[in-house]
Amino acid sequence: MKKLYGVMGDPISHSMSPVMMNDLFDLYEMDAAYVPFHVTSDGLETAVKGLKAIGVAGFNVTVPHKTDIMPLLDEIDPLAKAIGAVNTVKNQEGKLIGYNTDGRGYVRGLKEEIPSLSGQTVLMIGAGGAARGIYFSMAEAGVKRIDICNRTPAKAVELMKTCPFPVETEVFTIEKAEERLEQYDLLIQTTLIGMAPNIEEAPLSLKGIKPASFASDIIYNPLETKFLKEASSAGARTQNGIEMFVYQGALAFEIWTGLFPDTERMKENVLKQLGGYPC
Ligand code: NAP
Repeated sequence: MKKLYGVMGDPISHSMSPVMMNDLFDLYEMDAAYVPFHVTSDGLETAVKGLKAIGVAGFNVTVPHKTDIMPLLDEIDPLAKAIGAVNTVKNQEGKLIGYNTDGRGYVRGLKEEIPSLSGQTVLMIGAGGAARGIYFSMAEAGVKRIDICNRTPAKAVELMKTCPFPVETEVFTIEKAEERLEQYDLLIQTTLIGMAPNIEEAPLSLKGIKPASFASDIIYNPLETKFLKEASSAGARTQNGIEMFVYQGALAFEIWTGLFPDTERMKENVLKQLGGYPC
């Protein structure tokens, strides 16, 4: 029988996951379909029960349900529990099990550019939902230090305190971070500043960045944010959010099917879809 997969969120019509995942099911000749589910917050509980009742094989979860879905699942993987968000659900013999592949997906994508992360001194800008998974997974990957700057420093302190993997961290303001940029090998931009349509905005000035550093922005629309443009002009190497998106999907696919898919093909697929969307 054909297996049903999908992605639930609100809004959901913009999601690139259905085309990317259905292409993988075709490639590996799997009898499965992946569809977008438009689920509002009011309808979340009913939607989860309904998907379980019809025997969904698995699904992704996106904004705004990544945290609210947790009490509705049968089990939560320890990393997802620590992060406090689920982006992937697998139906394991009738039990819905929640996972989080965002942070590990980010790290897998980053390793395409920086194969060994140990010894890296990192500055993370932002402390929102995506930042949590990234901070935990970078700490798990064994980087030397991850400082965090955020508009609301208290949120960064909370993030740091709940991380199960030990890593040296200092929390400060964005203004303070601008004065210290030359200390970092890697800058990770996780806020929504610079995302289309506000493409002329950046969360901080990169005047002090050292040319040997690496700048990563998890935004992929536009493909090159103002943050990445400034870093690139200063001589730094850069990476946008496509890799994180592709690898979080690849890890979800692996959880569902046991197969780690062709990420180059996924990347091409996503870039083709983005080409179809005006920034
Ligand atoms: P979120 O939980 O709402 O966090 C937003 C972050 O941005 C917080 O650190 C927040 O600071 C900061 N922020 C918001 N408005 C700001 C402002 N005016 N000035 C300074 N800082 C501001 O969002 P999220 O889910 O983490 O998503 C963040 C970005 O990551 C989005 O652009 C999203 O598209 C992208 N993303 C990409 C991927 C991928 O696969 N590539 C995956 C997930 C998310 P405060 O704490 O002070 O509010």
